[in-house]
Amino acid sequence: MTHPFDLSGRVAAITGANTGIGQGIALALAAAGADVALIGRTPATETAEQVTALGRRAAIISADLSSIEPVGRVVDETVEKLGGLHILVNNAGIIRRADSIDFTEADWDAVVDTNLKSVFFLCQAAARHMIPRHEREGGGGSIINIASMLTFQGGIRVPSYTASKSGIGGLTKLLACEWASKGITVNAIAPGYIATNNTAALQADETRNRQILERIPAGRWGDPSDLGGAAVFLASPAARYVQGHILAVDGGWLAR
Ligand code: NAP
Repeated sequence: MTHPFDLSGRVAAITGANTGIGQGIALALAAAGADVALIGRTPATETAEQVTALGRRAAIISADLSSIEPVGRVVDETVEKLGGLHILVNNAGIIRRADSIDFTEADWDAVVDTNLKSVFFLCQAAARHMIPRHEREGGGGSIINIASMLTFQGGIRVPSYTASKSGIGGLTKLLACEWASKGITVNAIAPGYIATNNTAALQADETRNRQILERIPAGRWGDPSDLGGAAVFLASPAARYVQGHILAVDGGWLAR
């Protein structure tokens, strides 16, 4: 009997895999047996080397996801280079901080286009490949969107980010409702406070850093590797009946 978390023979595409959470998830999926397509605007050379060291194949695919222009090509290139696409992790994302009273249209559009619009159209492009393949050969497919604590909470000074990540929660549930019967699981991971480039400003702000640490029951910032187990689970046959779920990996932040 194969292990329920085994990803051997599966191909995963991860956006924004050169650093941070995307890198952590790519390495965890590779360690569980998947070959990985590393999609982003900065080549994920270091991640690819680490994947290769784990004995898996890695393909670096260049794409700027601030527009939906590359989404079809990204899926085609993954299939050409690695022979299929079974798992999509929509991780690439940005944040812009300013008081709502001063927030600009440019900061709204940049964040919503990257964090929400491109995610939807990449899900669509992936499902257009996964669903017919599942109908022909079985094997299903998994989509994992990266949400946030701000999928559940309001936050401050990040209106476009909160809107985009709240949108990810709704979109994940909608796509699960449409595609569950077609062999595709659609779920999300909501990271808590993870030490990456995205949170560098918060970590550097002594007061905010202390306030954040005081509220995390685990008593520490998360590390990108802390997201790996949740991603492997949601990508694996073990999660085949898990649909539209938003799994918080937050050191207990939401439980407080
Ligand atoms: P990060 O270290 O800043 O990484 C963000 C990744 O997204 C990078 O690979 C970045 O590529 C990529 N990216 C951004 N804009 C892109 C674009 N237009 N086209 C292609 N790739 C693009 O941040 P992170 O913390 O790992 O964040 C990863 C995801 O987790 C994001 O969706 C974020 O919102 C979410 N998240 C993070 C936290 C946290 O505490 N860190 C908490 C909740 C949710 P470049 O290196 O080329 O910029």
